[in-house]
Amino acid sequence: GSTVETLEFQAETRQLLRLVIHSIYSNKDIFLRELISNASDALDKLRLESLTDSGLQADTSDLHIALEVDRGARTLTIRDNGIGMSRDDIVELIGTIAKSGTAGLLDKLKEAKDAAAAQSLIGQFGVGFYSAFMVADKVTLRTRRAGTDQGTLWESDGQGTYDIQAVDGLPTGTSVTLHLKPADSEDALADYLSEWKIRQIVKQYSDFIRWPIRMATERTDADGGGEPETLNSMKALWARPRSEVTEAEYHEFYQQISHDWQEPAATIHMRAEGTFEYEALLFLPSQAPFDLFSRDTRRGVQLYVKRVFIMDDCDALMPNYLRFVKGVVDAHDLSLNISREILQHDRQIQGVRRRLVKKVIGAIKDMQTKDSETYAKVWEQFGRVLKEGLIEDTDNTDTLLELISAASTHDPEKTTTLREYVARMKDGQDAIYYLTGESRAMVENSPHMEAFAAKGYEVLILTDPVDEVWTDRIPAFDGHRLQSIAKGQVDLDEPADGDQEANADKAQHEQDFAALLPWLTTTLSEHVKEVRLSSRLTTSAACIVGDAHDMTPTLEKMYRAMGQ
Ligand code: ADP
Ligand code: MG
Repeated sequence: GSTVETLEFQAETRQLLRLVIHSIYSNKDIFLRELISNASDALDKLRLESLTDSGLQADTSDLHIALEVDRGARTLTIRDNGIGMSRDDIVELIGTIAKSGTAGLLDKLKEAKDAAAAQSLIGQFGVGFYSAFMVADKVTLRTRRAGTDQGTLWESDGQGTYDIQAVDGLPTGTSVTLHLKPADSEDALADYLSEWKIRQIVKQYSDFIRWPIRMATERTDADGGGEPETLNSMKALWARPRSEVTEAEYHEFYQQISHDWQEPAATIHMRAEGTFEYEALLFLPSQAPFDLFSRDTRRGVQLYVKRVFIMDDCDALMPNYLRFVKGVVDAHDLSLNISREILQHDRQIQGVRRRLVKKVIGAIKDMQTKDSETYAKVWEQFGRVLKEGLIEDTDNTDTLLELISAASTHDPEKTTTLREYVARMKDGQDAIYYLTGESRAMVENSPHMEAFAAKGYEVLILTDPVDEVWTDRIPAFDGHRLQSIAKGQVDLDEPADGDQEANADKAQHEQDFAALLPWLTTTLSEHVKEVRLSSRLTTSAACIVGDAHDMTPTLEKMYRAMGQ
């Protein structure tokens, strides 16, 4: 049947399309990267499916991507002979935004300072396909799912609706035809029909794509017998020896997998030989993504098996607290249809993960000693996440504690490490003092601070919500107790036994208040357990102290927010 059906984009999709079309002016080039990456994904999927499903009977002998230019019609077509889509696939994948958090993305996009910021947001959310509408006023998609007979044609001007109809005679795979907008004069370079321009974009963004990206070019027309030319190098960077990869190549690769325009803060390239061989190429970004703390942030490590792409977001290879690490792990001896569940329980994968974790936090530790400026930036961006490791990862507690940078009363301009704190501890000081709270100002003005400030004791100021949790779990650093100054009895100057005058003072004091304290305790019994005299305060009259094992107010709030 060839009836044309007109369907509406989901409301959020429409909104997103409007933003993509109207608010992103610079660097429209990325549309090609997005469409090529979709084509490449489709080839990966077909290859994987044909290896694991012998019933599929797909032709995988010449998987490739073809770019076709029609100057007369002003169209650019991106064609692949990959997995293809069924009609329902299209409606689901292209007509709606299945990914959660889209509303959040829309808000962020409105706030984005400039086009580059907007772009990196779009990239992170993978609204890739829609980027076609930055350069095209009409997009035609023809596709047939491998293993099925019925092809589908989809067409839209990106305004609010799309047409969809069944068509016969399509090859397996997908072609996306862009009807390019008239070249506008301000943007003279953006001629996406020009061979030079296409070549340049492919080289810049898609060079590591492991499938050939072919195009009929002047060169091949002249002396190649009309055979199309392969535009990309297809080199899998991680499979090459470190000595043969340049810094620039690493960065380019990083940009490809992360959609981050900045250079990474660190690059880790390693190869393990022996019983379980793998290569890993990991990057520490220099900036945190906006969704680092959203419930469904994905982990940034992709798993390959002998250069066959297996999965994104490989949670078996990276713990949650290192979710910002981007990169690739290519393991040689895994089954191609390995599932996430099996990976989670695979001993060898667990071994790889342990090793990668050590490498990553080792790299940050190295940075701390060798390049403190970069370390400071990394800590500022990811410190809050790394501290989650103190809760999740008991194997690396010591190293993670060494990594901590915290604000301190010692120097308002600078952060300190625990080790530096310990080096400054006063004679006789037996604990590392800290106070948690919602903000620096709140902590600094807390009545708990008074006596410590007056006596010249340094106090760490911990204001990340996670600080409430890890300080509760970690008893000590390097043999020195971690002590909240808001919890339990912290008596800075119990008079020595021999100091008769001071002891007499104290006794007098206790006698003066002997009647008041029980009265206060009874009167306030709904709110406090006990009212006692304290030497903590210098100017405030009273403060509230938790029991040694109570939750702090901030932690209580956090648990409540999490619904526990
Ligand atoms: P993402 O690639 O991040 O999932 P896109 O908007 O680029 O987001 O693509 C949406 C989905 O549409 C893809 O996940 C894929 O399932 C499907 N798709 C897009 N292009 C192709 C293609 N060439 N072949 C098969 N499926 C495709
Ligand atoms: Mg995509």
